Amino acid sequence: MPWTPSTPRPRRCPVRGDGALEQLKREGRIVVVGASLAGLRAAETLRAKGFEGSLTMIGDEPGEPYDRPPLSKQVLLGKARADRTALPRLRSVDATWRLGVPAAGLDMAARRVRLADGDEVPYDRLLIATGVRARPWPREEEAELDGVFVLRTRDHGAALARRLADGPKRVLVIGGGFAGSEVASACRERGIPVTVAERGASPLVGALGGVIGAVSAGLHREHGVDLRCGVMVTALEGDASGRVRAAHLSDGSTVETDVVVVSLGALRNTEWLAGSGLGAGPRGIACDAGCRAFDIRGIVTDDIYAAGDVARCPHPLFGYQFLSLEHWGNAVAQAGIAAHNMISESTDRLPHMEVPAFWSSQFGVNIKSVGVPSMGTEILIAQGSLESRRFVGVYGYQGRVIGAVSFDHGRWLPFYQELIESTAPFPPSFPTVDRHPDGQRPMDADFPDPSVPSHGPTVTLSGYSPADRRITFIPAH
Ligand SMILES: Cc1cc2nc3c(=O)[nH]c(=O)nc-3n(C[C@H](O)[C@H](O)[C@H](O)COP(=O)(O)OP(=O)(O)OC[C@H]3O[C@@H](n4cnc5c(N)ncnc54)[C@H](O)[C@@H]3O)c2cc1C
Repeated sequence: MPWTPSTPRPRRCPVRGDGALEQLKREGRIVVVGASLAGLRAAETLRAKGFEGSLTMIGDEPGEPYDRPPLSKQVLLGKARADRTALPRLRSVDATWRLGVPAAGLDMAARRVRLADGDEVPYDRLLIATGVRARPWPREEEAELDGVFVLRTRDHGAALARRLADGPKRVLVIGGGFAGSEVASACRERGIPVTVAERGASPLVGALGGVIGAVSAGLHREHGVDLRCGVMVTALEGDASGRVRAAHLSDGSTVETDVVVVSLGALRNTEWLAGSGLGAGPRGIACDAGCRAFDIRGIVTDDIYAAGDVARCPHPLFGYQFLSLEHWGNAVAQAGIAAHNMISESTDRLPHMEVPAFWSSQFGVNIKSVGVPSMGTEILIAQGSLESRRFVGVYGYQGRVIGAVSFDHGRWLPFYQELIESTAPFPPSFPTVDRHPDGQRPMDADFPDPSVPSHGPTVTLSGYSPADRRITFIPAH
């Protein structure tokens, strides 16, 4: 039902003119929807920058903000408990916390957020940091079988870790992206038999391309993963007691399994904004380089901001394409910029220019990337070698360095980040001390045809560009 504000319009802080900003900082009302990494870091920045007004944090999860990366790593390995992953507080935040209740609507004209319990929270500035959620298995009755998991929240992590500790006969991971590969790695480290089913030609292919995907496939297999590429899981089957017992694959094979981890990427949490007039949809919330959200007419708002996984914003270093990033570091940096801009004069606002960076650890290898590898068309192994699985791969796009990935070679990445920032030419012309023969020439980076869906990258390019990859996940089930 569309929301119609039933109460009179709230008192508002003037937002322009002499002293308006000072008044906003002294007695304004800022509401943050999404009380996780981006939301918390934004709140800390607001207070650090002198915002003294009222701050309301709205989060649908019941507990305090926690960190997600450990959920697919230490938690699954049994080395950390899921309820011990609280995010460290960088400073105290004097705020009203409305936890365990989702925001259910937004009235942009009245400047109010409606909560699912019927309450309405007025704001002068709103930050939306509602992130993403795990894409569920598309067939509901199969998704509900006992033993079928997704991994996004603390509860998911705790439940899956418990099941792994019980020693399942076999785990099936559907989707060989970063998260799926980390789950498979944790299973193997615990000695649990694991099958990975990936629709693309190799794991990580959507994020890093086929050259690096082949290295990842080698890692999986060397560690005993039963890796099946180019196949789809077509159905999950349960036993009489409702426990998953098998999965059927598109090549006609069957995998007997008692635990299935669905790792098919993410959905952006924007449904609550439907009908609000904000430019929000399945690709996230479109915003400008200063994190101000656009409305559906493409006109930038001045009081609504977005940050973290839910935001997509144009990046000057990447042809002003709108990037949606599912990266921890991006959420932190973007939250800081959004918070700063929310309480700054327009001339003092900052663009979100952080170079995207990502890390993952799997099968004992530390993988790091900077820039946007998935935008690259070519790759050059600038240091180390693919055979040794210790290397830096540099990605090129239209004659310039656009991204880099390292396997156990992370200390070099700041150097490559500088090349990306300075739009250095590709292939890079500098000599390196340990370049092997396979790194002499650039190769086709071998990204899948974007019209053929794979598990998808953690970066979505969604702006206008002749090279726009338009990556969309279309379940075949
Ligand atoms: C298992 C796992 C492993 C990861 N590993 C890595 C890694 O190794 N490296 C890396 O760079 N990144 C990693 N990430 C990604 C990283 O955790 C995210 O980029 C980061 O959490 C984004 O923060 P966020 O605040 O934007 O969104 P989120 O952390 O998703 O937080 C959004 C919050 O908003 C809440 N919310 C949603 N809708 C509403 C609503 N209507 N009302 C109120 N609240 C709402 C959500 O429940 C959630 O609490 C990993 C993520 C996962 C799940």
